[in-house]
Amino acid sequence: MDCACLEQQSCEKLKEIQKEIDSYQKCVEKSLQDISNLNIKYEKTVNELSSIINIFQYINLITDFKNLFPIINDMLIGILGVISSTIFSINGDELVVETSSIPRQQLINMDTLLKSFAENKGGIIEIKILDESMLQDDFSRQRGIKSAVMLPLTNKNGLMGLIYLEHLAENYFMTDDVRYLNTLSIAIRLSVENAQLYSRLEETALRDGLTGLYNRMFFNKEIQNCMSNYSKLDLPFVLSILDIDHFKKVNDNYGHLCGDLVLKEVANLVKGQIRKEDIICRYGGEEFAIIFKNTGDINSVLHRVEELREKIKAAVFSYEDNSISVTCSFGLVSCSSCSKTASIEEVVKYADEALYEAKRSGRNKACMHQSL
Ligand code: GH3
Ligand code: MG
Ligand code: MG
Repeated sequence: MDCACLEQQSCEKLKEIQKEIDSYQKCVEKSLQDISNLNIKYEKTVNELSSIINIFQYINLITDFKNLFPIINDMLIGILGVISSTIFSINGDELVVETSSIPRQQLINMDTLLKSFAENKGGIIEIKILDESMLQDDFSRQRGIKSAVMLPLTNKNGLMGLIYLEHLAENYFMTDDVRYLNTLSIAIRLSVENAQLYSRLEETALRDGLTGLYNRMFFNKEIQNCMSNYSKLDLPFVLSILDIDHFKKVNDNYGHLCGDLVLKEVANLVKGQIRKEDIICRYGGEEFAIIFKNTGDINSVLHRVEELREKIKAAVFSYEDNSISVTCSFGLVSCSSCSKTASIEEVVKYADEALYEAKRSGRNKACMHQSL
């Protein structure tokens, strides 16, 4: 073989090797690209997971049911970077706005949009991503909304709420986001249920088991509020404590169950007579406290209490074959006869003293605490 031939052969070999190297390089580059894509994906998943954990920890601390929805709404806007967020609850077949970052007057126009997507409850049981072609209604177009998502909040009973998120950018929500949004909706649903449970428990703790009226704990809170509203804002109130006369005899003559029934009946009767803003609590055994709000006019309250006293006196309660009637004594005190710095114990003591006077002077009476 001559020299030129040898040179050509090695040149071709070199080219082949170069080709192979190029192909390996491409392969390595592609693998590197794949790894980098995977890394981005994992990083996104880790970020999503950690944000879900943070959200979960944060919203599960909220036990105040009243503020729960606005807090979740603000959080969604902050975390997802959406232009608006609205949370609906379900009332029968209706979607009721619980909270929204969209001004109220604009929300009215949302009805048609929601109706078209929620013809039936089952229609929005899954996450729905809405692109520009699906957002051609006036409500969305006028505000330049190009993407939106409906996030149902479901529990074992079905749909319990709905979150509606909007963005000005096209395709802001992608099918890739569905898993994240799904987990987010589960976290939100759990926190809503948690707060609901807590507020139900709180409500139960403030109720009397027999009559269903508020209990002494609630009364203490309420009278404290009334006193501070009186001293800071000059908002007046009148407190009355009523006590069933000779109630022990009802128990002695007809039994304890009959006594329970009479307590319930008297409680219902009083509750039906007072105004919506007034508050009745079971103060103790056969004693009830009524707070007459936004009035310092003890004479007009006395007039109402006298009517109430007459109504109780005229009522006949049936227990087995017995017809039972009771009377009540009332003690009243107006906030204006207490100093603005009076403690709740003092205010209750004045009402108690007036009640004692009603008992002492013959029962079935209403007496007012005399001013200092
Ligand atoms: P007065 O006119 O002086 O108020 O006489 P009274 O008999 O009503 O008062 P007293 O304090 O002597 O008796 C109150 C009774 O109320 C005694 C108690 O057993 C009864 N009582 C308290 N709570 C309940 C209850 O939840 N159910 C029943 N059945 N009785 C109760
Ligand atoms: Mg008593
Ligand atoms: Mg009594």
